[in-house]
Amino acid sequence: MSIIRVHDKEFDLYIPQDQIERAIKKVADQLNRDMAGKNPLFLVVLNGAFMFAAELFKHLEIECEISFVKLSSYLGTSSTHVVRELIGLDHSVHGRNIILVEDIVDTGLTLRYTIDKLIKLEANEVKIATMLFKPKAFKYDYEVDYVGLEIPNDFIIGYGLDYNEHARNLPDIYKVIS
Ligand code: 5GP
Repeated sequence: MSIIRVHDKEFDLYIPQDQIERAIKKVADQLNRDMAGKNPLFLVVLNGAFMFAAELFKHLEIECEISFVKLSSYLGTSSTHVVRELIGLDHSVHGRNIILVEDIVDTGLTLRYTIDKLIKLEANEVKIATMLFKPKAFKYDYEVDYVGLEIPNDFIIGYGLDYNEHARNLPDIYKVIS
């Protein structure tokens, strides 16, 4: 049975765990190659990126630091475009090579705000590592440097992603049935 119900909606199995984890391993390999010797500071954007981050870090072999920040612009199944404050930044980012770790880049608004903030705080460079990317929804021109999987503009849940705070625990990714 691959159809599940969360709140008022039905979702169908879309990306199984083994495929997600192969994609994450590919991102880790790229980071191991590109960031060796740069002592990057990984900033995991909570809540959605927690599962991606845990899997990604298991495969990282480089010297690095890991911290967690919070910032959300999403409610229900459509982006509200309300950008909130970046909270929980307990490291100095001055002169650091930052990798923002995201669950999904949709319009790109959330990250645009976060990147600007980190640049104002004088980070040396800010790169993005995201599990999922919706290129057709993306509205900005900054580089999305490391992408696990590109997906169409469907609303998805699982592997850290929620529908009104449910379904983050699912080990596979599900797509809403329209
Ligand atoms: P953006 O600012 O790029 O439009 O939105 C990014 C945020 O919206 C993500 O961090 C995530 O929280 C949420 N988001 C975007 N697309 C989806 C989706 O398909 N499913 C879920 N659950 N959240 C999404």
